Amino acid sequence: MPIRDAIHHLAEECERFPLTIRDRPVRPRVTPEEIRTHLGERYGALEATSLADLTTDVMRMMREWTLHTTHPRYFGLFNPGVHDSSIVADALAALYNPQLAAWRHAPAASEMERFALDVFARLIGYDPATSGASFTSGGSEANHSAVLAALAHQFSDYPELGVRALGAQPVLYTSAEAHHSFVKIARSVGIGSRAVREIAVDDALRMDVSRLEEAIRKDQAAGRQPFFVVATAGTTGAGAVDPIDEIATVCKSNGLWLHADAAWGGSALLAPSLRPVLAGIERADSVTWDAHKWLSVSMGAGMFFCRHPAALDRAFGIATPYVPPPVPGTIDAYQVTMQWSRRFTGLKVFMALAEVGIEGLRRDVEHQTAMGERLRALLSSAGWVVVNRTPLPLVCFTHPRVERGELSIAELVRRLDARAQVWVSEVALAGGRRAVRACITSFRTAEEDLQLLMDELELAFAGAPSSVDARVKT
Ligand SMILES: *Cc1c(COP(=O)(O)O)cnc(C)c1O
Repeated sequence: MPIRDAIHHLAEECERFPLTIRDRPVRPRVTPEEIRTHLGERYGALEATSLADLTTDVMRMMREWTLHTTHPRYFGLFNPGVHDSSIVADALAALYNPQLAAWRHAPAASEMERFALDVFARLIGYDPATSGASFTSGGSEANHSAVLAALAHQFSDYPELGVRALGAQPVLYTSAEAHHSFVKIARSVGIGSRAVREIAVDDALRMDVSRLEEAIRKDQAAGRQPFFVVATAGTTGAGAVDPIDEIATVCKSNGLWLHADAAWGGSALLAPSLRPVLAGIERADSVTWDAHKWLSVSMGAGMFFCRHPAALDRAFGIATPYVPPPVPGTIDAYQVTMQWSRRFTGLKVFMALAEVGIEGLRRDVEHQTAMGERLRALLSSAGWVVVNRTPLPLVCFTHPRVERGELSIAELVRRLDARAQVWVSEVALAGGRRAVRACITSFRTAEEDLQLLMDELELAFAGAPSSVDARVKT
C-alpha cells in the first residue's frame, strides 16, 4: 500500500528530525533558482510519481531548504517548536476532513474544539457558558473578528448600512508598539487606516494610559466616535504588556470595547508566577490568543474569545436556504465567525492539552521564561545591555560598542545570520532605538543553546568570517 510506505518514511522522519535538528544550521543556504531547477527537473512533466518517493523528496526539501522555526536556536518571531501531537493531529484532520462549519457535519470535531476552547476561556476568566469562542487561522483573523464584533455591538446600523451610515468617523486605539494587523483590519472594515490612533508608550514600552485618555477626549471633542481599544499583552517587538486593568477602567467610563491582543502573551496565564502580569484581561470584551505561538502547536491555530455572543450574531449571523438547521444546544461555527468551510484547527490544541496535560503546558511556559531570565543574566555579565523590561522570555539588547558607533545592530545581525548557527532579528523600538531581538520560542531551548548564542555574539563582534562553524555539520 503506497500510503503505508509513505507513512513509514514519515514516521522515521518524525522521530529523527527533532533529535538531530541541533546539528543543523538554523537557516538554509539556497537560491530561488536552485529550488526551481529541482522542481522543474523532477516534477516539470506533471506525471504521477510514487507517493513514497514523493514523500522522501518533500522531506529532503523541507529539511534542507527551510528556516527551521522549530530549532532550539531559532530565537525568532513567536513561531514555536511543536509537540508530537500536532503532527498526528494535522494528519488526522486530513484523513477524516471533517467540515466544521456546521455541528451536524462534525459532532466529534466540534465538541473536541469546544472542550479545548472552554479550558482557555476559563484561564482568561470568562464563563464558557455565557461567552463565545472559536478557532481562527491566526491572531490576525481573531483581531479582525474583534473589530467586526465591536462595530456591530457599538453601532446598531453598522451591520446593515455600513460605516457610511454612522455619521462620524469611528476611531480605534492601540499602543505605538501594537501589532500592525490593526492597520490592515481598519482598511478592510471600511474605517480606514487613519482611524487607528497609536498611543505613545512609557519607558517600559507599555501604553501610556493618560495619553490614551487625552486622545479619546480630543477625538470626542472633534465629533469623532471612539469605539475600540487594544491592550496588547506581549508586544511583538519587545514583549511589553500594556496595563490592561487601567485600560479596562478607561474603556468602561467611556463606553468603549476593550480587546486584549494576547496572541503570544496569553500563554503566560498558565503560569501562576506570570498570571498577575495580565491582570485585568478578564475584563476585556474580547481576547486573541494564538495556540501556534506559545502553546507549541503547529500553525495556524488562533483562538478568539468574546464576552458578547449577541455581537457575534449581529456581525456574522446569516440565513441560508442550503445549510441544514442547527442541532438544538449546539452552535454552527459559520454563524458566529468569518470562516465558512472550516478545517479541524482545534484538534492539535485538544491533543496538545491531552498529550502533555495542562501541567505539561505550564512547565513549557515556565521553562521558556526561565531560559529568558538566564539569557538576560548571561548578556549582562558579558557586557551587553538589555533594553526592554518584561518578565516574558523576549530579550532586546545592544552593546556599548554599538552605541559608540563601532558596529550597527543590522551588521551584527547580518553576521549572525551568515553563520546560520542561531537566528535572531533586528528590532526598532518606540523612539527608533534599535536592538537585537531574541525570543525563546521553543520548549526545547536549553542552557547549551544560550551558551552557543553567547559564543556566536562574541564571534560576530570579532568579525568572524561567515563560514559555518566546525561544530555544526551542514
Ligand atoms: C503574531 C501576532 C499577531 C498576528 O497573529 P497571526 O497568528 O500571525 O495572524 C497579532 N498580534 C500579536 C500581538 C502577535 O504577536
